[in-house]
Amino acid sequence: MKAKFEEPCGRRRPRWQETPPLVASRLPCDLPAGHDGPHEDAIGQQWIDLPPELLHEVTTLCVIDRVRRAFSEEERP
Ligand SMILES: [Zn+2]
Repeated sequence: MKAKFEEPCGRRRPRWQETPPLVASRLPCDLPAGHDGPHEDAIGQQWIDLPPELLHEVTTLCVIDRVRRAFSEEERP
């Protein structure tokens, strides 16, 4: 079995997840590479990384739902 947990993850928050103070919110993830769950920096702040594909899919589903509702006859009072 490979020792794949020797390197730190090193991921940083996306800019839209940064909060004041910026120095603290730009700390890299301190957990071992390939870890499960949210990222966590050296001072214990956690965040999750949303993959761009997921953001795209959620956006698409929301648009589809709005279009479906717009043409739905069920919402008539
Ligand atoms: Zn991480």
